[in-house]
Amino acid sequence: MRCFHHPDTVLHRPPQFLVRGQPKPVPEKPERVTAVLDALNRRGDRVEVAPDAGPAARAAVHSPEYLAFLETAHARWIKLPDASSAVIPNVHRGPDMLSYPVSVVGQAGYHMSDTACPIAEGTWAATRAASDCAVAAARAVASGEEPAAYALCRPPGHHAGRDMAGGFCYLNHAAIAAQEALRLLAGRGLPPRVAVFDVDVHHGNGTQAVFWERDDVFVVSIHADPSEFYPFMAGYGHERGAGRGEGFNLNMPLPLGTSEDDFLAAVRDGLASIGRFAPSLIVLSLGFDTFKDDPLAAFGVTTPGFGRLGRTVAEAGLPTVVVQEGGYAVDHLAANLTSFLNGFEAASTR
Ligand SMILES: [Zn+2]
Repeated sequence: MRCFHHPDTVLHRPPQFLVRGQPKPVPEKPERVTAVLDALNRRGDRVEVAPDAGPAARAAVHSPEYLAFLETAHARWIKLPDASSAVIPNVHRGPDMLSYPVSVVGQAGYHMSDTACPIAEGTWAATRAASDCAVAAARAVASGEEPAAYALCRPPGHHAGRDMAGGFCYLNHAAIAAQEALRLLAGRGLPPRVAVFDVDVHHGNGTQAVFWERDDVFVVSIHADPSEFYPFMAGYGHERGAGRGEGFNLNMPLPLGTSEDDFLAAVRDGLASIGRFAPSLIVLSLGFDTFKDDPLAAFGVTTPGFGRLGRTVAEAGLPTVVVQEGGYAVDHLAANLTSFLNGFEAASTR
């Protein structure tokens, strides 16, 4: 498969984040990139460095204030007296707060939904490079050049909203890919309809928020029940979109401890709904944190199970942009991605 990566995606190295009030090492490590690249090279995939996508693709999803904040926050933060080496908010935006703050401390609270998205020195470079990978993959597929492409995005993206970071995510690469694909599909005279299919173990709350009032992007997410799992405040079945987007958002929460067979049954149901929407293209938000031994595990998917996932998605027969989301069992990432891609390609070539 044609794959896109960028060397800058390893530059994001936040020292810690807060879990239940305690500082902990960030499991979203740069070694994830190395592990995945090794797997792609061993498989003999066509791996390319993503070119600079330019600012327009990011600006089609994210607000100007948020993009400026991501780019400048770290340099401004470390000039503050007694500041930590990474931006972590100590205020948060509430519904009664009506004004955009000037101070970087206020902006951190405005643009960061939790304490799991620290901004360190290389964060902007890494997340920008990751979105370049997603745009390159979207362009390869939406232009008709490739039936499928893989974007090695790191840090991940699906918890990031239009103007909000959260849960290890800064720019929403899947949303940026979907938006870019829509533009190219329309240019080719194809129906500008894209499905985002999120199979990470966490709900893709950022992607849901970006497309909440849109009927040209159908967002389907399979994830652990948010009543007991991050992001807690989104991902429930009753959230179906609003306005023109009503009915174009489908959440499929599953209980903690869901087996591989039950997860894959939900995947087939999700794809059946996507088939009825009849998109021109799928953006697959692919997380490997559904793996049974992931440090954030909630589901029981095995390494061969990711092969079954790949086959099932490919059998939908749609052009597919694969965007890497989570997956924190670094020692198993190579095997899990290899299994997924082998399964996907076995079904595609049939
Ligand atoms: Zn996840």
